[in-house]
Amino acid sequence: MAHFAVGAGCILLIAVAIHRFDSHLFVRHRYPLAFVGGIWALIPDFHHMIPDEQMTETWRFWLHDNWWVDLFFFHYTMDHSWLDANGNEAIFIGLCFLLFAHLIAFILIDDADLYGEDPVETME
Ligand SMILES: [Zn+2]
Repeated sequence: MAHFAVGAGCILLIAVAIHRFDSHLFVRHRYPLAFVGGIWALIPDFHHMIPDEQMTETWRFWLHDNWWVDLFFFHYTMDHSWLDANGNEAIFIGLCFLLFAHLIAFILIDDADLYGEDPVETME
C-alpha cells in the first residue's frame, strides 16, 4: 500500500514538474498514469506470488533485494529503511505523501491550460 501511494504521488509530482513544458498528454492523463505509477511501484513485490521452492535466493536478490529496484519509485529504499514498508506507519506516511502530491497538482496545474476554454461557458 505504501509503495502504491508513493508511486502514484511521484507521478503526480512529475506531472506538476513538466506541465509548463510541451507535455500536455502526460499531464492531461495524470490520474490514470498515477494509478499505473502505483502498480509500477509494486512490481518488485510480485515475486511473492512465486512459490518459495521456485524462488531461489539469487532470483530474490535480483528481483527485489537489489539497489536497481529503486527504479520502481524507491522500492528498495523503502523496504530497507527504518520504517517497515508494510507497517501502518509507512502506509500513513505514503498516503500523506499522495495527498500532498494531489494537493500540489490540484493547485499548480490549471486545467484551462490543457483543455482550453470551459466548454460550458463557451456554449452560453
Ligand atoms: Zn518489497
